[in-house]
Amino acid sequence: MSRIRETFEGYAIPWSEEKEKLFDGYRDRVLEMNRQMNLTAITDPEEFTEKHYIDSLTCAKVPEFLDAQMVIDVGTGGGFPGVPLAIAFPEKEFTLVDSLAKRIRFIEETCRNLGIDNVTALHGRAEDLAREADLREGFDACVSRAVAPLNVLCELCLPFLRVGGAFIAYKGKAADEELAEAQAAIAALGGQAADAFAGKVLPGQEAHRLLVIRKVSPTEERFPRRAGIPSKRPL
Ligand code: SAH
Repeated sequence: MSRIRETFEGYAIPWSEEKEKLFDGYRDRVLEMNRQMNLTAITDPEEFTEKHYIDSLTCAKVPEFLDAQMVIDVGTGGGFPGVPLAIAFPEKEFTLVDSLAKRIRFIEETCRNLGIDNVTALHGRAEDLAREADLREGFDACVSRAVAPLNVLCELCLPFLRVGGAFIAYKGKAADEELAEAQAAIAALGGQAADAFAGKVLPGQEAHRLLVIRKVSPTEERFPRRAGIPSKRPL
């Protein structure tokens, strides 16, 4: 049985040959395009499956994610974790955001060519996009992996969530420290730290820990501050 299928069964996500083909197709196109632009440092197909696919799918453990219909991925890069989640959960709608136009163009074209039709790829900085009326507080869940320290990331992500929604941050070994340092930012932005879930990849590979931060009150109009300020002067 393939690793993807095994992981789907572990999480009770419906598996199909069609989904498996989309995973293979997307990986092949990322690796092919990676020769022309920087999409990932990982070029070994098995490592790709673990670090980009199995790791991304850890969200399947999070009840707030399973309940969500509209999901935004902030700083998606080559499409992670957004694209694997979109393939696994075709009934949810995914908006993938990145400030690098080339990466967004790649995701847009590749999803269109493969027939992944629940992905919208948006070019822009999170600080600017969160000011757009149809995006601000327009999502049930926000995911983000390897973009910024948690205190900075909360300012980029929490404004996109409706009250009652959840921000799910993919974090590494420093998860606890980052969470401690983000307490002021979480409170200022209307969030509340709720839960944590550990990922499961093959031995020798590293999985992320998912930190869940619930949105409990609306984000004040002054957040996010203008582009660049959240990382220059973290809350
Ligand atoms: N999430 C992907 C990519 C991580 S690299 C993965 O885990 O593989 C970080 C990405 O975040 C880059 O593609 C960068 O362009 C994007 N990024 C950084 N700051 C951003 C911002 N303020 N708004 C939107 N995208 C941002």
